Order: sequence, then C-alpha cells, then structure tokens
Amino acid sequence: MSALIWFRNDLRVIDNESVYNSTKNHNSVIAYYNFNPKKFEETKWGFKKTERFRAQFLIESVSQLRNELLKLNISLIVDHDSNYFLLNELIKNRKIKDIYLQKEWTQEEILEEKFIESLNEIKFHYNYGQFLFNPNDLNHNINQTPEIFSNFRKNCEKNINVRPILPKPSILDKNNLFNKNYVIPDLKKLGLKKIDHDDRSAFIFLGGTKEGEKRIDDYFWKTNHLSNYKLTRNGLVGKYYSSRLSTWLSNGSLSSKMIYWKVREYEKEIKKNQSTYWLIFELIWRDFFKYISIKHGNKIFHTQGILNKEYKWNQNMKLIQAWCNGKTKHEFINSNMNELNKSGWMSNRGRQNVASYFAKDLKINWIIGAAYFESMLIDYDVHSNYGNWMYVSGVGNDPRDRKFDINWQAERYDPQKKYQKLWSN
Ligand SMILES: Cc1cc2nc3c(=O)[nH]c(=O)nc-3n(C[C@H](O)[C@H](O)[C@H](O)COP(=O)(O)OP(=O)(O)OC[C@H]3O[C@@H](n4cnc5c(N)ncnc54)[C@H](O)[C@@H]3O)c2cc1C
Repeated sequence: MSALIWFRNDLRVIDNESVYNSTKNHNSVIAYYNFNPKKFEETKWGFKKTERFRAQFLIESVSQLRNELLKLNISLIVDHDSNYFLLNELIKNRKIKDIYLQKEWTQEEILEEKFIESLNEIKFHYNYGQFLFNPNDLNHNINQTPEIFSNFRKNCEKNINVRPILPKPSILDKNNLFNKNYVIPDLKKLGLKKIDHDDRSAFIFLGGTKEGEKRIDDYFWKTNHLSNYKLTRNGLVGKYYSSRLSTWLSNGSLSSKMIYWKVREYEKEIKKNQSTYWLIFELIWRDFFKYISIKHGNKIFHTQGILNKEYKWNQNMKLIQAWCNGKTKHEFINSNMNELNKSGWMSNRGRQNVASYFAKDLKINWIIGAAYFESMLIDYDVHSNYGNWMYVSGVGNDPRDRKFDINWQAERYDPQKKYQKLWSN
C-alpha cells in the first residue's frame, strides 16, 4: 500500500524521519507540497503574509527537494490550492492510509491536518525533526519546560543527547514514479513582484539543502569563520559575521542536528573553542522557543503573550508605516528596516533594536511588528519570531524585561556609521 510524505517545514531528504521511515516501511511512496495561496494573501495590516524574498527561497527549496526525491524514485506532487483538493484526491485514488509528516502545533498547520483527517481515514505518523533535543528524550513533561532559557539549556545539555543523523533513506523501485510533472508556481503565480537584487546585500540566499550545505562548508571549513563566531556575531555588515543558517533551518532544508554534528566534526578536525560552542548555544535558543511555543500554544500570538500581561499599546498607523518604511527619527532603526525591505534579511542585533523600539519606545502593539517580520523575513520561523518578539516586548521569557537604548546601541555596534551609511535608503 502507498504512503504519502506531506512536506511542510522539513524540505529535505537527508535526516528526515518522514522520508526515512516511509521508504523503510512501504514499497510505494509519493510526496506532496502545497503552496497554499492563503500563505501569500494580504493580512489585515495591509502587507502580504509571505513576501517575495521568502517565497523565492521556498520555490528554490521545493525545486531542489523535488530533484533529491527523484533520486529515490519518489515523485513530488506540487499543489497551489487552499482547498487541498489534489491531496484528497491522491489519498482516495491511491488508497493511502499512512501519511508521514513533521509535527507542527501552531494553529494554521493543525487546521490543515484536521481538515484532511475529517475527509479521510488515515493515520498520521509524526516526527519531531525540527528539534535539536528531541522532545521524546526529555526527562520531564513538555509542560514543565523552564521559562528561563539558562535553566532550559542546562537541563538539555546535562540530560539529553542529540540524536545521530539518520542513515540514508532507501531507494524505491522506478515504477513508483508518476508520469505527470507538477509545475512549481513562480512569484507571479503567487501574486508577488519580482525581486530586484540590491547590490548592497553582502549575501545572496539560494534555497535548497545543497546550498545550505555549501554555506556550512564555507563558514566552517573554507574560511574558518566559525572559530571567531562569538566575537563577530553582533556584526551588521558583511557576509560572515554570523552563520546565516537560519534561512535553511526555517523551511527545514537543513536540520538543526545536521548543523550540530558538523560543528562537532569541526571541533574534532580543526578547532574547539568558545565560538564553536556558541553556535550550538544559539541553536539551543531556537529549540527553547519551540518548547515554549508547544507549552503555551496560541498564547504566543496574543498581545498579552505568555505572561498574560496587559500594557497600554497603541496602533498609530502613521507610526507603524514610518517604522515599516524606515522613516523613523532614528537612523539606526531606519537602516535596519531598509535592509529588511530590500533584501529580506536583518542581523540579530538589528532585530533586537527595531523590535524594542517598536514595542518599548513607540509602544505599538508588538503583534503588528511581529506580523511585519513574518511577511518580510527570508528566515521567518513561527516559534523564533513570536518567541523573540514576546521576549523583547516584555510579555515573554525575559526575566529582566530590558529596553534597548537605541542611540547607545548604534554608537556601540556601528561607531563609524558604516552600516547606517550603507543602508541609508
Ligand atoms: C524580534 C526578533 C525576531 C526574530 N525572528 C526570527 C525568525 O523569524 N526566524 C529565525 O530563525 N530567527 C529569528 N530571530 C532570531 C535571530 O535573530 C536569528 O535566528 C538570527 O539572526 C539568524 O542569523 P544567523 O543564522 O546568522 O544566526 P547565528 O548567529 O549564526 O546563529 C545560529 C543559529 O542559531 C539560532 N538562533 C540564533 N539566535 C537566535 C535567537 N535569538 N532565537 C532563536 N534562534 C536563534 C538560529 O537558528 C541561527 O541560525 C529573531 C530575533 C528577534 C530579536
């Protein structure tokens, strides 16, 4: 009997439990991905839910995934339909009973699954492939996840081993392949404008596992920037101040485990120091926000956040537009927003500053800022984005509830105004 892999945020063949288990358990496997038009619609705030930078990256990622699946004799069926008509038809026509997919717990994904479940008799086989520390290996209930990052980190480091990379998946028989070729939509089909590359962007992001692996190779072995990561990670200009691996992680072209084990390899072969540890430390932050989001469910999308804290937020459209368009009174904020708008990228230092300015200086409902990031960021990840926004806005996991002094930050991290001059418009 045929099985189906439903790809969402796990767009890779390597170290993917859905691919590994389905090819181990079934002779016939098909794969499915949907560019659900709802994800590209305009939000109530007047901007798209997914803008062109991430959409283009996604198109490239799915296209590479399709090629990698073909090597296993698995056809990827690509859909562009909010009603999932094709998926239902496939399940019925091919008598599919088993669907393999990465576990998601945020509302949009759960609704998709419930809809398919309501129409078909199927069994979902879930996996926790987006984590570094697998929730099945926890020594406590997820609901007891510590609210303070360092407690969470120490517990994981002490009590959980990162699982090894999965073995290569089996190659199925050629008969498994479909004759029909499904077209991957382009930006125009998704209702988005084409991208004019801005030469000021130091980095060109290309989607797909192979491109992510190339970046690891470059950042780790070719240039040894990993050895200095802790010293450079607060940078703003250039290609190498941080790893930029968030982009491939966000749609699952790379797994967090793949990066972890490459760092360990580098430590054995080249050098082990505070910087190599720090990249893993940051990957644990990524896990932390995933655990927090499972624990608190939809609260991460509520203005009061996981602390249920009421502030007096405003929704001044003029201020919101000025922030989005890089037209505030702070050059440092504007340059970061300009970079985001022209390239889909912003450094971690930039993100902290513009978010703090939005929520703590302008006192605008942080949900709107988070939604704008969701639209624009090439590496948008629901848990990291809403988790960090809550953290910075005083409704999340920051025990000190800090506010950034924007002038001080600009002085400290961009003393010669190199960055501000670069992205002045
Ligand atoms: C307001 C705000 C919104 C953010 N939204 C996102 C988002 O949508 N998607 C996203 O991936 N990250 C988000 N981050 C976290 C962080 O800014 C990015 O992960 C990081 O800048 C990506 O660059 P990098 O891959 O070069 O990171 P590196 O510095 O090289 O770090 C390595 C990896 O560690 C993880 N990481 C690093 N910092 C964080 C962090 N603070 N929280 C969670 N994981 C982290 C990322 O997976 C990253 O790829 C946000 C941060 C803030 C303050």
